[in-house]
Amino acid sequence: MIPLYNFKPEKIGAIGEIENIFRSHDPAMADARKRGQEIIYFLIDSEKNENPPPVDCISYYYSLWVLKGVNENPLLTRTINYHRDVLEKLVMDEKLDGDDIETYAESMGLSAEFDPLKEVFYLPLNQFVSCNSRLSGSRYRLSYQLFRNGDVILNRETLAKIMREYFVLNSIKEVHKIREEDALSILQDIDYIDSLKELYKVVGSRGILDLGSVDFKMFPPCINEYISQMRDGVNLPHMARFTMVSFLNKVGMPRDDIISLFKTAPDFNERMTTYQVDHVTGNISGTEYSPPKCSVLQSNHLCYKGDDRLCNQEWLKHPLQYYSIKKRAVMSQGGAQTSSRK
Ligand code: SF4
Repeated sequence: MIPLYNFKPEKIGAIGEIENIFRSHDPAMADARKRGQEIIYFLIDSEKNENPPPVDCISYYYSLWVLKGVNENPLLTRTINYHRDVLEKLVMDEKLDGDDIETYAESMGLSAEFDPLKEVFYLPLNQFVSCNSRLSGSRYRLSYQLFRNGDVILNRETLAKIMREYFVLNSIKEVHKIREEDALSILQDIDYIDSLKELYKVVGSRGILDLGSVDFKMFPPCINEYISQMRDGVNLPHMARFTMVSFLNKVGMPRDDIISLFKTAPDFNERMTTYQVDHVTGNISGTEYSPPKCSVLQSNHLCYKGDDRLCNQEWLKHPLQYYSIKKRAVMSQGGAQTSSRK
């Protein structure tokens, strides 16, 4: 699969095409839907420590429609930009020669003619000026360019930049054309939209969770297991400690309470623990970390879901999502409290 080969922006808004992608029983389409879903989940968490799923045009169109339904513009932009970077990397990859790039650009609708003798590309002026204003740097200004018969002469790097901007511009334009009612109608059969919104709220937007006071009863099994193992004198692996601290911080436990929890650990060292907690919570690092996703904990044998009903939902992707869903359910039943974060 060549990433994003044959990108046709007009297909983004083509309802018949999209319905086929969403409803087809063809296994290839089902795979594309799965990849589209995976890439969204991958992009929700910007502190990724797993390999990105492969991307292609069909899964890209699919993910844009899903995100139109989720209605979170930053996530939509993040997704477009991610694909943009994949495209640029591919064009700069030495495995592709000039003729390959010419074919690739043509498949997107750009007429970049390759000159093998001079190792440059000729691009029609109108195509160049439709994209170059989005690039910063004098070398992308028209006055800096060389011409041949009215075409702009570009090296590979500049063409890659033009291609990526063309990709972004057209993606945004087409996404804006998607009517809200069409998106809602197509997404009605998808069962993970609400959980996706919830996950983005608790992880992707990097905001402080406003979920009232810390409630241990709402913790997911993994966090409860780490706490219980630590109390039993087990030395937790680094990732379990990191997960526990970042989780407790995100749900609003005060820093000193987090440090106190570690006092039961067999190897407790106050100075070291304080440093680690301050690092994970952003007090000294400047970055407030989120706990890893379930898939990462699972691949590190740190998931303890057992037969927990919520953990076994296919759409449950993150320990914070677990907590948030349980907590909101209680709060909506009238149990809302104020945050204990200091
Ligand atoms: S499924 Fe996720 S939240 Fe549940 S125990 Fe496993 S890692 Fe924790």
